[in-house]
Amino acid sequence: MTAFQQILKDYAPYLSAEQVGLLKEHWRLVEEGAKIMNLTAIRDEEAAAVKHYLDSLLVLPYLQGTSCLDIGSGAGFPGMPLALLRPEIKFVLLDSTGKKCRFVSDCAHALNLTNVTVYQGRAEEAARQKQLRAAFDTVTARAVASLPTLLEYALPFLKTGGLFIAMKGPALQAELAQSKDALFELKAQIEQVLPKELPGGERRLLALIRKTGQTPQKYPRSVGKPEKMPL
Ligand code: SAM
Repeated sequence: MTAFQQILKDYAPYLSAEQVGLLKEHWRLVEEGAKIMNLTAIRDEEAAAVKHYLDSLLVLPYLQGTSCLDIGSGAGFPGMPLALLRPEIKFVLLDSTGKKCRFVSDCAHALNLTNVTVYQGRAEEAARQKQLRAAFDTVTARAVASLPTLLEYALPFLKTGGLFIAMKGPALQAELAQSKDALFELKAQIEQVLPKELPGGERRLLALIRKTGQTPQKYPRSVGKPEKMPL
């Protein structure tokens, strides 16, 4: 058994051997892809098992409903590991970078993942598409933007009652204090902030944010505004 498989077996004992094998195969594809494009700074499989896969799996217990959008999915985190483990949920992985989207699409094909669709575009524009607006039960995002900006990206995609899971580090506490106006404007509330720890001691915070009403049509604002002028 490789170090990658051993770490997943030890820290995610609920995974079957087959599921661990699928995640390992996904990492093999990411390693291959990283030789020719900028996909991840992580190179060794032990670090990847912890910082990419166990980190992505922190979200697993909180996924709700039958549809999930991962914003700024990059090489596919957390979207791909989640899609591999929850085949009954339809995932859309969104990223603005064409190369990354083509890579994720190739991965989904190589792994026979029929529950993954890849969408290339900016969140601000994608949220205006009829088939994507107010269409998801869950939205996830890791390492994409600060919380006030992320709220404007994520909330328009959710159905009312849907859940946004923001995967954050310790910076979340300060970002929460800056998010009051965004939460009010976008009709959402913080339901829980869950402290988590990865093997090795790195701390993570998951913010579970509930959409409580329809997003006003003026949101999201045009490309770049949510980042330059957060609500
Ligand atoms: N979520 C992945 C992870 O944690 O490994 C990738 C994180 S990477 C630092 C941020 C990604 O978000 C990039 O791939 C970038 O192209 C994408 N991104 C940033 N702003 C975006 C936007 N407004 N709409 C869509 N994608 C965006």
